[in-house]
Amino acid sequence: MTIYNFSAGPAVLPKDVLLQVQAEMVDWHGSGMSVMEMSHRGKEFMGIAAEAEADLREVMGIPANYKVLFLQGGASSQFAMVPMNLLRGKAGADYLNTGEWSKKAIKEAKKYGAVNVVASSEDRNFSYAPTQDQWKLDPNAAYVHYTPNETIGGVEMFWTPDTGSVPLVADMSSTILSRPMDVSKYGLIYAGAQKNIGPAGLTLVIVREDLLGEPVKGTPTMFDYKTHADNESMYNTPPTFAMYTAGLVFKWLKARGGLAAMEKTNREKAGLLYDYLDATDFYASPVARENRSLMNVPFTLKDAALDEAFLKLAKERGLLQLKGHRSVGGMRASIYNAMPVEGVRALVDMMRDFEKSHG
Ligand code: PMP
Repeated sequence: MTIYNFSAGPAVLPKDVLLQVQAEMVDWHGSGMSVMEMSHRGKEFMGIAAEAEADLREVMGIPANYKVLFLQGGASSQFAMVPMNLLRGKAGADYLNTGEWSKKAIKEAKKYGAVNVVASSEDRNFSYAPTQDQWKLDPNAAYVHYTPNETIGGVEMFWTPDTGSVPLVADMSSTILSRPMDVSKYGLIYAGAQKNIGPAGLTLVIVREDLLGEPVKGTPTMFDYKTHADNESMYNTPPTFAMYTAGLVFKWLKARGGLAAMEKTNREKAGLLYDYLDATDFYASPVARENRSLMNVPFTLKDAALDEAFLKLAKERGLLQLKGHRSVGGMRASIYNAMPVEGVRALVDMMRDFEKSHG
């Protein structure tokens, strides 16, 4: 039986990438070593890292005046590193609040400065994203932070905020690489790797160079972006194996036609699910139509008492990790880049069968 993994992260990786990792595991390219065992300063790994960065730059179209940092600590560390590095003498920053991850970013930023919440969708249980005409931006803000895809709520924004000369900062953990993005519109982009990039343990930061070099007083060396920017992410030992695997994912993306091709497939996959959710009363999508995430699709059964039976049948069919986040309940299908369209078809077939037998 084919297993399809709908986990929100760590999430499914491309099978081809896993097979290549397996083939190269014990002896990478005749080096007699696994990538895990190599010095990060050796010729082999330096080559792997440089290639990963070059491929990512190509795939995302990252302009030359942006640094790409391969860090650790997860997106959660960025909730602190962003204000530590980007407040740059200003009193505070603007934050959009669209759900659980926005809230965590806001909470952490408050340790370093004043947070102005420009708008919040808490009034409707974080089921939508406020449009920019509803935002109250502070012209003196050091930066504007938002979460283009709320992984738990499944709320995605398909437009880029216009913040003028105030740097725009995005937590792209669960949307990065799912479709083309204009990096030049951002001051900083960050993402935990364990969804669309590669294995957990790697955190990606893409930052405009002119924002570096003014961290708050007392910022530890390791939390200063400039430390990593000046040392090509090799100030200390980077997450080498995760970088190598991410590099293979970037090559996989290139071979499949890049992010425009990804978006096409991702829209097809999400469309299959949302079209079915719209066609039935047995299931429901809690998210506003214009904010339905391409990556994380939460849905509820009309009768929550059937949740357990639903998950049981799903498991019997090899459809795993569909239980919604503990904070919201229901179901959630995460359908990142590496989820094949067949996996989504199998899920919709199963949902239809379950409806027939329980509807
Ligand atoms: N932001 C978003 C949007 C996320 O989805 C997650 C993880 N699911 C995080 C932040 C936290 O990431 P990490 O576990 O890498 O710290």
